[in-house]
Amino acid sequence: MTKTNLEAAIDNPIFTTISNVAKELSMDAYVIGGYVRDHLLNRGTPKDIDIVAIGSGITLAKQVASQLQGSTDVSVFKNFGTAMIKYKDIEIEFVGARKESYHRDSRKPVVEDGSLEDDQKRRDFTINALAISLNPHDYGQLLDPFDGIGDLKRKLIRTPLDPSITYSDDPLRMMRAIRFATQLNFTIHPESLDAITNNKDRIKIISKERIVDELNKILASEKPSIGFTLLHKTGLLKYILPELLALEGIEEVEGQRHKDNFWHTLEVVDNIAENTDNLWLRWAALLHDIGKAPTKRFDKKAGWTFHAHEFVGAKMVYKIFKRLRMPLNDKMKFVQKMVLMSSRPIVLSEDFVTDSAVRRLIFDAGEYVEDLMTLCEADITTKNPKKQRKYKNNFKIVRQKIVEVEARDHVRNFQPPISGEEIMATFNLKPSREIGIIKEVIKEAILEGEIPNNYDDAYALMLKKGKEMGLVAK
Ligand code: ATP
Ligand code: MG
Repeated sequence: MTKTNLEAAIDNPIFTTISNVAKELSMDAYVIGGYVRDHLLNRGTPKDIDIVAIGSGITLAKQVASQLQGSTDVSVFKNFGTAMIKYKDIEIEFVGARKESYHRDSRKPVVEDGSLEDDQKRRDFTINALAISLNPHDYGQLLDPFDGIGDLKRKLIRTPLDPSITYSDDPLRMMRAIRFATQLNFTIHPESLDAITNNKDRIKIISKERIVDELNKILASEKPSIGFTLLHKTGLLKYILPELLALEGIEEVEGQRHKDNFWHTLEVVDNIAENTDNLWLRWAALLHDIGKAPTKRFDKKAGWTFHAHEFVGAKMVYKIFKRLRMPLNDKMKFVQKMVLMSSRPIVLSEDFVTDSAVRRLIFDAGEYVEDLMTLCEADITTKNPKKQRKYKNNFKIVRQKIVEVEARDHVRNFQPPISGEEIMATFNLKPSREIGIIKEVIKEAILEGEIPNNYDDAYALMLKKGKEMGLVAK
């Protein structure tokens, strides 16, 4: 093995402290995993550090915590033999080097103490098995038994041991492989890819929460389609998001074809990733056409239709979030709202844009109107440059109009200018249907632009409408 010294990677007093404490305890200690990888990839200084000790990681952690200034609680996870220190905004995780063996029905291994190399072998990928020595005699020395450095250069995701066994032992690694390939823009080694494909049904033993963690990291990447293409290629997608897979394919009837909505969706997700880091808006992009599979029909007159797919899709969002144990809170409702409204601005962009259409859009989308525009702009995937230009330009006009109309009419967080109480008092009414009717007439008149959004005009309309309804003002 060529000798590489990486002292620069551990140029931080934390590492000196760990090194000194380990020496006092006559233990060897190493920095391992993501920290080393990300340093070598120049991905900035990572916020978490993994330390492996030849001996008790917990003992080392406690001793280090007592030495660090202004620190710090140690969280001990006795069952896992690990301990964590939070120091400033850094999380340092300590583990004793171990050897692992697995049973088929669980991703919890049987663990025994082991050497550094045993510990490196149990790591998922060669690029995650890189270790740097913290021991005085070879401080800063890189320990790389599986040519992780070579794989970093080749941009390759490869397992230290037989890939079939590695993925079968802990199927979460299949998701991690695809996630790292996406985050780092690396290739998965062909043997690994085959092994993932062969072991895909083992994903069933992984908790939904862990799967979603990885999905979220894929979605948060610069080009999420890399990950979804790999999930598709390996067959994992069927187990995770079958609804998305159902969008794949083009049908042709009487010479009429519809677009492949799976590949279209991946383009939309990549497009939106260029314009927003909002994870939930990226989820909305992923799911925006989800209702198209169950609503697809062919009609001689209309051709292919996906009637009410937005409505069906919004309902599916709830089912998918529930199945994947994702939060059923305002984030889910936001995704539903985006899916439900996902075609609205498109209709606007195809036509001449009226003020009242824009007012209705702002009224319905409320505080999320910009997010909705971002989604719909990402949805433009036509390869026809003329259409592409036309749609983009129309969206620009819609965005301008949104600003103008909102400045004038304030319908974004619409509050009725006349309250129900005032209507009751004016016509001496008890709570009744009439109040709702009058409120609706006023709201409609404002959205249609028949009256401006203010008290006096709304008051006059209330009197007029009340008179028509046979009500008498006091
Ligand atoms: P990131 O923190 O960016 O997600 P990471 O590589 O640091 O990347 P962690 O989940 O923090 O990932 O894990 C730290 C290290 O532990 C990894 O680098 C790897 O060596 C090892 N590791 C994590 N999960 C597994 C696993 N499922 N199988 C084998 N080794 C793993
Ligand atoms: Mg990490």
